[in-house]
Amino acid sequence: MIVDSHNHLSEWSPDAVQTFDEMMQSATEIGLTGIVATDHYDIGSLTPYGKEWVLDPEAYRQEMYPRRVLPSERKPGDLPGFLYGIEIGYLPQHIDRLRALIADYPWDIVIMSLHLINGYDPFHSPDEVYKSSLEETYRNILTAIAESAAMLPEANIIGHYDYFSRYAPHDHPKMLYRHAPREFDRLFRIMIENEQALEINTATIWKLQDARGYSLEEAMPDSEVLQRYLELGGNLISISSDAHSASNVGRLVPETCAWLQEHGVNDHVWFENGKLFRAPFEQSPGVNISEVNKDANLSGYN
Ligand SMILES: [Zn+2]
Ligand SMILES: [Zn+2]
Repeated sequence: MIVDSHNHLSEWSPDAVQTFDEMMQSATEIGLTGIVATDHYDIGSLTPYGKEWVLDPEAYRQEMYPRRVLPSERKPGDLPGFLYGIEIGYLPQHIDRLRALIADYPWDIVIMSLHLINGYDPFHSPDEVYKSSLEETYRNILTAIAESAAMLPEANIIGHYDYFSRYAPHDHPKMLYRHAPREFDRLFRIMIENEQALEINTATIWKLQDARGYSLEEAMPDSEVLQRYLELGGNLISISSDAHSASNVGRLVPETCAWLQEHGVNDHVWFENGKLFRAPFEQSPGVNISEVNKDANLSGYN
């Protein structure tokens, strides 16, 4: 019963290798309720060919929008739903352009992500990004993510808060609440106020496990981060595999849902045309997908 809210396609994201059909095939095999294409819109990021990571939003709309099948209207046995979204890379100097992009197209889901800090990306310029301690680096990053959430409250999901832990050269790069407690609190308060979902990105989990020496259990997000989000009243968790290839669609999603359930989180959210939907991880009789009524009780999970 999962909608995987963040995935990339080869035709639209320079770092992706799956076609739409391949992604849908994987989603069908795994049995997802729905899947979302959220290709990159990263002003300032360059491919090896010197081309900006910015898709043509009108061409993208024309190709993707007609393919939408709303997960909320899916019946048992139907193929997975499909939604149309975008992953916007936050750059404060381009705020007007980003705002217009969000306003001008009928996105189901807008993910706001931070891929650059002070103009540097962590993959190509680790020496510039990780100049100071992990604590100081993560404090700066979370401050920038909080700024992005505040500046673009219309963004539905705050993407991979822990993205920079994937490439930190330090021995134990996993991002912890204790690295930046005040910054986490500030970010979560802004997100909760704006009704922006907290993305649990399984690509970070996989990276920590595959390349950074963590066991799967240790690679899961820091429990304290999740607990603090819940304590502050957060109750919008989105699940994403951030797949760039068909074999990565839904990767570690079952393990991540099990981990969330251990922490008292039993459902997840996604957006359809910007409207919030919620569904439990496991379908049980009498429990169904629901559009979240803004007047309904939005208190914490517990
Ligand atoms: Zn990203
Ligand atoms: Zn992504």
